[in-house]
Amino acid sequence: MGMSFEGQVVVVTGASRGIGRAIAQAFADQGARVACVATTIAGAKAAAEAIGPLATGFAADVSDSEQVAALFKELDQTYGQLDVLVNNAGITRDTLVLRMKDEDWDRVIAVNLRGTFLCTRAALKPMIKGRYGRVINVTSIIGQTGAAGQANYAASKAGVIGFTKSVAKEWGARGVTCNAVAPGFIETDMTADLGEDFRKHVTENAPAGRLGAATDISNAVLFLAAKESGYITGQVLTVDGGLTL
Ligand code: NAP
Repeated sequence: MGMSFEGQVVVVTGASRGIGRAIAQAFADQGARVACVATTIAGAKAAAEAIGPLATGFAADVSDSEQVAALFKELDQTYGQLDVLVNNAGITRDTLVLRMKDEDWDRVIAVNLRGTFLCTRAALKPMIKGRYGRVINVTSIIGQTGAAGQANYAASKAGVIGFTKSVAKEWGARGVTCNAVAPGFIETDMTADLGEDFRKHVTENAPAGRLGAATDISNAVLFLAAKESGYITGQVLTVDGGLTL
């Protein structure tokens, strides 16, 4: 199966760092023009410059309806087409439910779940018009298993899974697929503060015997985004080295 994305336009949110940056790089390596979205134009541009000439940086807070509308207007003016959207931007604000402040709940749901909705809604218009599209949402194994101290994050990521399946049902007949990738524990800024005990737990309990790399996730995203994956929709592809088996 070929994995060329030449001639395609791909939007990746949260592309300044970590998993999103690896996803943006992987698409550019396969010939796609990639819009790298982050909260600041400086962060987005720095990533795009490092990725290469096929990448361009754009700034938007994905939880903000007006900023997302302006972003997709700018993307339309820049590219005039949209083939792949990767909803990767995400945050954590971990604490036990009893101590969780309203804003800890609201912000995580706003970025992870509302952001996925806002960007997908905006991307669907050009995709439906072109009768082709691939939406890939980055959820988490925590959305399936739950985690003490991460009720807000788990709820947001479980919500992303329900959203993914609904979009798949709504737009499949127009050539648009919508799938999710559920990473386990991947080496990025988000997991940099995990203690040694937790790292040991993962390496001892995941059959793969290691934490994941951002490229483990980008490989899965590219597979789901390929033209040849058009008969796969509404699925959650877990990429966790077997940790949740
Ligand atoms: P990360 O290194 O912390 O990077 C987060 C990215 O999201 C950054 O590019 C950040 O941009 C962007 N972002 C945050 N809030 C945003 C907003 N409001 N609007 C637009 N962009 C925003 O995280 P990561 O580990 O790569 O995680 C990427 C995704 O994978 C997330 O959805 C996360 O939940 C999921 N995931 C990660 C793991 C893991 O082990 N790392 C496991 C399961 C799932 P700025 O640089 O501008 O802040």
